[in-house]
Amino acid sequence: MISKQMIELAGKNSAIRAMFEEGNRLASIYGRENVYDFSLGNPNFPAPTAVKETAVRLLQEEDPVALHGYMPNAGFPTVRRSVANSLNRRFGTEFTEGNILMTVGAAGGLNVILRTLLNPGDEVLAFAPYFVEYGNYVSNYGGVLRVVPADTQSFLPNVEEMTRMINPKTKAIIVNNPNNPTGTVYGEDVIRCLSTALEAKQKEYGTSIYLISDEPYRELVYDSLAVPWLTKYYRNTVVGYSWSKSLSLPGERIGYLCIPSEIDESELIWNAACIANRVLGFVNAPSLFQLVAAECVDEKTSVEPYDANRKALYGALTGMGFECVLPQGAFYLWMKTPESDIDFVNAAKAERILVVPGSSFACPGYVRIAYCVSPETIVRAIPAFRKLAEHYHLIASE
Ligand code: PLP
Repeated sequence: MISKQMIELAGKNSAIRAMFEEGNRLASIYGRENVYDFSLGNPNFPAPTAVKETAVRLLQEEDPVALHGYMPNAGFPTVRRSVANSLNRRFGTEFTEGNILMTVGAAGGLNVILRTLLNPGDEVLAFAPYFVEYGNYVSNYGGVLRVVPADTQSFLPNVEEMTRMINPKTKAIIVNNPNNPTGTVYGEDVIRCLSTALEAKQKEYGTSIYLISDEPYRELVYDSLAVPWLTKYYRNTVVGYSWSKSLSLPGERIGYLCIPSEIDESELIWNAACIANRVLGFVNAPSLFQLVAAECVDEKTSVEPYDANRKALYGALTGMGFECVLPQGAFYLWMKTPESDIDFVNAAKAERILVVPGSSFACPGYVRIAYCVSPETIVRAIPAFRKLAEHYHLIASE
């Protein structure tokens, strides 16, 4: 008998992945252009040309033995220095290579830090709606994910409820800003309020509560909004980042953890995290793309195409009478469903529109529409959305 936990997980398969596979199935029947696949956060826009140029140059010019070889589990020191310097320039911090651990994407980083922090039975809080994999990552190490109910007015962290849920077993809180799936951006006020509440709880219980800031969408914000850099607000913060979204490199699996020297037991955590990277089987982040990322650390993907998609989709859907949260960042539109989200997803599928039910993010009654698609997909999907709006009597049938 194989692992019972894995049998259970295999039975549940991620709704996002299932929808992605359904998209491929429908595309093979109706043609890719007749399927409106808004299921996966897979950027449709290519990485900046500097990424390709750098990769090609490194492959042509670098010593292949060093380029493709093992290195310290934390990553190439030069790469970590380049990332630290970039953060320091942007946020006025004083990080060094000793604070930056290169990881296999944001997912790898989250697993490394959770492996480092959690003892079986330790609790981790996340705010609904949350990135569905957090539950799996926490349970990988015997931790228990507790979900802070959504504030469906604002979709900002419900700090009051979080405060009530913290207890001596609370080891960490995960925040994701800009947010997947709602597209909201948590501003300074919310972060200050969250930090004050965490400080008070640490004092009350005499424990360390780590704030894990999961930030793969940091640069994807609209209307010049600022995303606060959390180590400046709360001392026990660890930041997880990846270039999966910001440089359209999700398949390359490249990111980092920033572990500040100021956090409680920082030396122990740093050493343990390096070992976690090794014993989880990552060993180190991919070598070529560490070096590419270091050279492209200040490159930016243009947010304009995402912004155009955001405006087109939000305008069209609200115009049809659907209730949507205006995205401030990332590339997801969060929409209230006129009936149960599961039934809505099926009705949408009948129109060959693929979206992910809010239930998958612990927030039923909504769907997530990933608009990191080509603008043509949105244009072609509008009549299908219109049919849905007619089906729900939001607009009169033509
Ligand atoms: N965290 C959030 C909120 C995400 O949306 C994703 C990917 O969609 C990840 C982490 C994982 O990112 P990566 O592909 O860099 O592992």
